[in-house]
Amino acid sequence: MMDNNERVVFFDVDGTLLDTSAFAETARKAAIGLMVDNGLPLDKDEAYGVLKTIIREKGSNYGKHFNVLTQVVLGHEDPMLVALGMITYHNVKFALLRPFADTIETLIYLKSQGYRLAVISNGITIKQWEKLVRLNVYSFFDEVITSEEVGKDKPDKLIYDVALRKMNGNPEKSVMVGNKFKEDALGAVNAGLSAILVNSDITEEDRDYIKKEKLDITIIQNIGDIKTIL
Ligand SMILES: [Mg+2]
Repeated sequence: MMDNNERVVFFDVDGTLLDTSAFAETARKAAIGLMVDNGLPLDKDEAYGVLKTIIREKGSNYGKHFNVLTQVVLGHEDPMLVALGMITYHNVKFALLRPFADTIETLIYLKSQGYRLAVISNGITIKQWEKLVRLNVYSFFDEVITSEEVGKDKPDKLIYDVALRKMNGNPEKSVMVGNKFKEDALGAVNAGLSAILVNSDITEEDRDYIKKEKLDITIIQNIGDIKTIL
């Protein structure tokens, strides 16, 4: 029983559990549309361009993109326009939020096999829990370990070490599932775990590197393929 208890499957969220393809852009464009219709004095393409610059400069996890947008365009913050932008962005984003096909049955399968599950994510802790709650998969996960909490982003070994410690996991019996070669797969292998890459845009060069270094990284097409490995 002790053995089983040490086996943890860690998941990345965005692009791994959650299909994030293009929904942020759609949500941002909807927000801009409503802000322009309600008095932001730019045309929609210009306003979207300004917003993209702000996101690039402040980072996507910064919480006040729309506040800065009104400051830049109007010279002062416009609370009504900020509220319209924020609410539209969140509503459209969450309307489009969905897990990849087979995600839930894969989580059920892993639990039935005795694995404990946790998330390791570069992001904001509450935002990542929020996504798990909205997808209704939060009850599968014991912990969400984020770069916000640890102070280091994947692939830094520290975030994996903290996650293993919090979950009381044995690295040799634990697995990281993610969509990014460097952050998820190399980071995990460097911390002593094995890794499964899913939905990844892995290059031929990366594949050669895995072979040459004999890294414990398995590449799959769909999250449901985990069942053939674990
Ligand atoms: Mg990801």
